[in-house]
Formats: sequence, structure tokens, C-alpha cells
Amino acid sequence: MQTTYFRGVCDRECRGADHFLDILHTAKDPVALRDAWLAWHDGVGRPERPLFENFVPLANAGARAAGFRDVGEMWRSAYDEPPDQFLVETERMWASVSPLYQELHCYVRRKLHTKYGELVPAHGVIPTQLTRDLYSLNWNQLWPEVVPYPDAAPIDVSEALVAQHYDPLRMVKTGEAFFESLGMEPLPATFWDRSVFAKPEGKVMSCPGQRVWNIDGPADVRMTMCVEPTHEHLWIIYHELGHAHYHWAMRHLPLLLQQAANPGFDEASGDVLQLSMTPAYLHAIGLLPTAATSQEATINALMHLALDKVAFLPYGYLVDKWRWEVFSGKTTPGDYNTRWWQLKAQYQGVGPAAPRATTDFDPGVQGHLALNFPYMSYFIAGIVQFQLHRALCKKAGFSGPLHECSIYGSKAAGAAYERLFRLGASKPWQDALEELSGERQIDADALIEYFAPLQAWLKEQNRGHACGW
Ligand SMILES: [Zn+2]
Repeated sequence: MQTTYFRGVCDRECRGADHFLDILHTAKDPVALRDAWLAWHDGVGRPERPLFENFVPLANAGARAAGFRDVGEMWRSAYDEPPDQFLVETERMWASVSPLYQELHCYVRRKLHTKYGELVPAHGVIPTQLTRDLYSLNWNQLWPEVVPYPDAAPIDVSEALVAQHYDPLRMVKTGEAFFESLGMEPLPATFWDRSVFAKPEGKVMSCPGQRVWNIDGPADVRMTMCVEPTHEHLWIIYHELGHAHYHWAMRHLPLLLQQAANPGFDEASGDVLQLSMTPAYLHAIGLLPTAATSQEATINALMHLALDKVAFLPYGYLVDKWRWEVFSGKTTPGDYNTRWWQLKAQYQGVGPAAPRATTDFDPGVQGHLALNFPYMSYFIAGIVQFQLHRALCKKAGFSGPLHECSIYGSKAAGAAYERLFRLGASKPWQDALEELSGERQIDADALIEYFAPLQAWLKEQNRGHACGW
């Protein structure tokens, strides 16, 4: 499955996800968007299908040998609570963010309907390729099409990064400078010697395949990423550096405890800092001309973030909802693709680029399926990062609206955050979370608080329009 996924779509040469993503990001013609989406899904998904059908019973046999009903239960057991309870918890979290997602979907669909006409029905699901992502994983690329106030101060720093000649190393150093501003222990010199920040000439390397690795023991953290000078890549760098710092901070623990208290904490570790990349912060490091705080600039900034973080939530939720059903036998091979699109429609409100057959295998194009790597941790991270951000803002002595807080430069916040990192898995996550925030449950209320001005604005914009699908 991994070979099929990473080889990509081959005729005279092989093309990976990055090739098709490029087309989705840049093509003007909706037919080109559809064709790129289809080429990737038909070229990689279909050949993976028989492999996955063989794989499911094998993986389940392994899980049963370890004392679990199936692989889904085994994955859910990583959360310091009964696996069935975790299932209920994730449903509760989704229910609390779903109204915000619905408002965002409603607004974005209307913009796309205006642009594409009947291609995007006014009351139906959005054709997935028009979100300019292979999975509608995020809607970052829609920013120019949906920006609320085009004339308000700029939010996206891509142009500034190019104008200031940011090279890959400087991009990563910019992220590292944030961690160091918090007083966190710097990454070891080997990180800078051994990491790969740009595609090496003449070598085969999958891009985008950003990841942090522990190669030779816990103290040997490295990163692989083909860094481009874009706002999105700057965000990804903060995400990956979070992993690096988390793992670096745990190196003193016994090997079995060298993991995050909760898989979602690991994925949230760097994203928490993204929430501090406010216009004021980006201005302070010379990437935005002003730290504009007008109402319009605020809505722009929150929309920019929501296209990434709110748009992601239903996808983050449904990938493993689908796999849990597959591993438990509730969804059988004949229904693989149908069930996938039911969930895509139900949670994301998106539909396929063209009619799909039951013999297609569209979940197969998600790399985490080929790698058999759980996905729910990204959903948990998408929620808990706001809770961690709120707790760190309190440590930093900040008392204003949550979306205005940046912990940049706060040693108090940094010390508290590094304490969480250093705990690794030596305590249940509920205890680790309580130590930092005083809370024992993962809740979306901090996320809702952060986006409150945007949600109110969206409600106003959507007034009188039929939302939902
Ligand atoms: Zn990650």
C-alpha cells in the first residue's frame, strides 16, 4: 500500500500528491481541477483496494492477539479511557464544533456558487475539487476567493517571505526563534546538521512528506520537509518543530514513556504556537507592515485561520470514523467507497468530482491509510490546541480576547509548556492537562471562544440564506 501510494500515478514518469496539489492550487479552469482530482484518485486509490482488503483481516488478527476486538479498538485504547468511551467523547467534540463549521460552509459555498454557478449548487454539497485540495482537508487555497475584506490590512505573509528572500533554513530558524523566545531548551546541533529542508538534487524524495523523526535514539530529532517560502509552509514548520521540541524534551524518560500523554497533544504541540501567530506577532518579526487591529482586519485574520483549522475538523473526524467501521466489520468491502462518500457528505458537506463506482477506493489516497497510521489524533489536536493556548495565555498574564493573545516571548508560558512536554507519557493525559490548565476534559469551548467574533460575523452574513445541505 505504501509503495502504491508513494509511487503515485505513473505513465512515462510517476507523479506524487504534490504534482496534483500544485494543479489544484493554481489551475483556473474547473475542468483541469476535476481531471487532476480524478487522476490522483483513480491512479492511486484503485490499485490500493485489493491490498487493503487483504490487509484488514491481517491487521485485525494482530489486534486480537494483543487482546483487542479489532484495530479500531486498539487505536482508541491509546487515550487513557475505555475505547468505547473515547468514541462517545469524539462525537461530543464534533457536535460542539459542527455549528461553527456549518456557518463557514454556508458562507464559502455561496462564494463558490457565485463564481462557478450551477457547478456548486446553492443548497447542496460542494464538489471537493473546487476547495482546491485533494481531500478538502483544509480550504487554505480559497483565501483569495473568500477573503471577507479584500482592502483591509493583509494577513497572508507569502508575498513578504518571497520579497525578503526567505530560504528554507531561514524559514525553519524563524519557527525555532519562537520556541526560544519562550525560554525553551534549543534543539540540538545535530537537528540542524541532519535535517532535510529542501529536496536534494538528483535524489528521489516524496514532497510534501514533512515529518519529524527520531532516528538514532531520543536525542536525535530530525525533520524532513521541502520548504517553500509560503505562509502555509511557515505554519507547517511550527507544527513540525512542536514534534521536535516535544520529543527532545522527553529524552530523559524511560523509552516506553517517551511519547506524548495523549496522541492529540503531540499533534497539537506546534499548532498551539500557530494560534499565537497573530498580526501583532507577524508584524513584530517583520512579516506584516502593520499590526492592524480594526474589526475588518480581525475578521480577515480569523477567517484565514478558520480556512485551515475549522475546515479541517470534519475531515479529521471522519477518516477514522470510516476506518473504525471497516475494522469492526460494520462496513464491508462492497460498501467501502459508498460509505466513504456518505461520511464526506454528512460531515464535510462535500461531494466527489465525478460520479464514483463502488469499485473505486477513494479513502486509499489518504497517506495515513497506506501507512496504517491513526488519524483521530489530528482531530483531537484540532480541538485541544485552543484549550492549551488559552491555558498558556493565562500563564502569560494575558486577559484580553483569546484571538488577540500571542505567547511569543513569554517565559512563564514557555516554562509551563515545557513541563507538559517533559512529562511525556509518565502520567495519564487527564493529569497532565489538569496540571497545565486546571481542566480534565478535552472541550471545544476554547475553540469557540477564539472564533467567536468570526462566528457572529458569519451568522450575520448568512442571515436569510439557507445553510446546510
Ligand atoms: Zn504532525
